[in-house]
Amino acid sequence: MSADAAARPYPSGAIRAELEGCAGRHPAPPLDGAWGIEWLPVAGRPDAARVQGHTCERCRDLSYELLMVGGAFVVRRTRWRGVRRAEVHETARVRRALAVEWWRALLTGAAQ
Ligand SMILES: [Zn+2]
Repeated sequence: MSADAAARPYPSGAIRAELEGCAGRHPAPPLDGAWGIEWLPVAGRPDAARVQGHTCERCRDLSYELLMVGGAFVVRRTRWRGVRRAEVHETARVRRALAVEWWRALLTGAAQ
């Protein structure tokens, strides 16, 4: 994010998406009874990873990525807005099938 963008007040993500007609991929709002993914804080710089999938980071407070790190897979959640520096959380590192299951659950609102 540029310094200019950081200094500018912005409407909430959902309103911005509507105003700008963002075509990015966004997770569905959590459904009733959505289960909670266990998010672990990442201290320092996140490990290098190969991006397998990602959601829009332009108009929402949180964005998500499905990543391959080494031989394992994680879902990473980054909070961009309302914080001084990006806040990064990740799931545990797991096999691909499980990470993909979590990823799909996030996108459909079955998990948050
Ligand atoms: Zn968007």
